[in-house]
Amino acid sequence: MRVAVLGAGVAGLVCAYRLTQEGHVCDVYERWPGLGGQAATLDVGGGDLLERYYHHLFTSDRHIVALYDELGMGGELEWKPSSMAFFLEGRQWAFTTPLDLLRFGPLSPPARLRMGLAVLLLQKRAKEVGPFESITAREWIERRMGRGPWRKVWGPLLRGKFGTRADDISMAWLWSKLTLRRQLEGDEAKQELLGYPAHSWELLFDALRDAICAGGGRVLIDRPAAALRRAGGDGGGFVVAAGVPGSFRRGHDPRRFERVAAVGESSVGGDATAHASAAGAPAQAGGTEARARAGGGSGGEERYDAVVATVPSDVFEGLLDDDLASAIGPAYLERLRATEYHTALCLLLELDRPFSPFYWTNIADPEVPFVGLVEHTNLISPERYHGRRFLYVANYLAPGDPLLALSPEQLLDAYMPGLLKVQPAFSTDWIRARWLHREPAAQPIVTVGYHRRIPPLRTGVPGLVLANTTQIYPEDRGTNYSVRLGTDAARALLDA
Ligand SMILES: Cc1cc2nc3c(=O)[nH]c(=O)nc-3n(C[C@H](O)[C@H](O)[C@H](O)COP(=O)(O)OP(=O)(O)OC[C@H]3O[C@@H](n4cnc5c(N)ncnc54)[C@H](O)[C@@H]3O)c2cc1C
Repeated sequence: MRVAVLGAGVAGLVCAYRLTQEGHVCDVYERWPGLGGQAATLDVGGGDLLERYYHHLFTSDRHIVALYDELGMGGELEWKPSSMAFFLEGRQWAFTTPLDLLRFGPLSPPARLRMGLAVLLLQKRAKEVGPFESITAREWIERRMGRGPWRKVWGPLLRGKFGTRADDISMAWLWSKLTLRRQLEGDEAKQELLGYPAHSWELLFDALRDAICAGGGRVLIDRPAAALRRAGGDGGGFVVAAGVPGSFRRGHDPRRFERVAAVGESSVGGDATAHASAAGAPAQAGGTEARARAGGGSGGEERYDAVVATVPSDVFEGLLDDDLASAIGPAYLERLRATEYHTALCLLLELDRPFSPFYWTNIADPEVPFVGLVEHTNLISPERYHGRRFLYVANYLAPGDPLLALSPEQLLDAYMPGLLKVQPAFSTDWIRARWLHREPAAQPIVTVGYHRRIPPLRTGVPGLVLANTTQIYPEDRGTNYSVRLGTDAARALLDA
């Protein structure tokens, strides 16, 4: 089969790799001028690659660890002790070890004990997600632990992930977090270990791309799908219409992309290896350049036997023509429309000195306008980056939030009072460089009853599969689960 895979994030690359292993030929279309989707890297200078959004792995992330092994890259993953804090009541409180919980001043000693016991009981006894699917995390926590732990610990933790929707998040999501990630054994029970690849996530993407290309496929970056329809005639299949290079500057909605002209028409573009230089796009991201050039078929349109879309749900719907949308049917489309995403807004700062002693700080002070501080070089030594230090200032925001419209300078101004609260000595003189990235479909909002609204991988139209982060449940979406999802998507296509 010739298969079009839409999206070169982890799920798309893994899916195309699995299909290639089964002898199928895949073209991967990617809107961004680089590989990796939400885990994509940027060159922060001097050839040093760093993810646009902070990334690490947990020891429970077995699917991605197995993939590294399978590709002969097991040695890439390094496991380092994590350090975590909560910022509230004017200071950072260490929250890394069980002993830190006992010393956590913002809660009374009985509240600390009650909270610790509730977590332990959940981990020991609650083996099924079912009982947690009809209650919010807030209700469960206030009932089992009390209001203080919600206000000072869990509320801020969920706000760090779901912004203003924290109160509505299903307990199923938190159950999965607590039972999967936190069941730490051996040395890890004392201090959690986090994984990070020695050369960033980029080498994994390169290896997957090389395997796809070796099987006769192509990985086409800066080459979005602009539209998708059923191919007419007896052969069946689908037609993918490509958008011109640079379409990523127009945002996510594929209906806003200008299409590559068919052969014979005057073409605006068509070189899939073209690199963009817009702010935020990788000027040169080592090894991400697709090997093959687009073309073939009829210029901007190509026919495929099957399509696997790994794009966000709203993007997927935007690709469909009326005929394909009605073939998919209103029930499935309803599930796509029920998807609610929050946008990740991530300011990456290069600093000339450490900001704090912690890798990860959850912000529990409601007056601070961001939700987390992730000091990457407190997990990975600055030596890896020629002595440079990097701090991510993290936020998850509802679409339309005014902070999303700010330039890096304006955002830094808005964040400055909050940064000074956490580190009073901080000054803009510490900043050597800054980058700002926004990811509209960063975080699906997992509310009560979410499991009933998940669209199945098979869309109901033979040969058309959807595989995106909304279908990862009850686990927290992450690269590990996108590896699993990519494999499942390939299986869903082949089994049909
Ligand atoms: C702030 C932040 C922090 C995170 N931290 C971690 C972490 O610490 N650890 C971890 O494991 N995970 C983390 N994640 C999550 C992880 O990155 C994602 O869950 C995972 O990468 C999703 O992969 P995916 O392939 O399923 O989706 P995506 O990465 O979203 O891939 C979808 C791809 O489709 C492309 N696309 C969109 N429209 C089109 C179109 N029209 N045509 C072609 N292509 C298109 C997109 O550009 C993208 O490349 C984080 C995410 C964010 C935002």
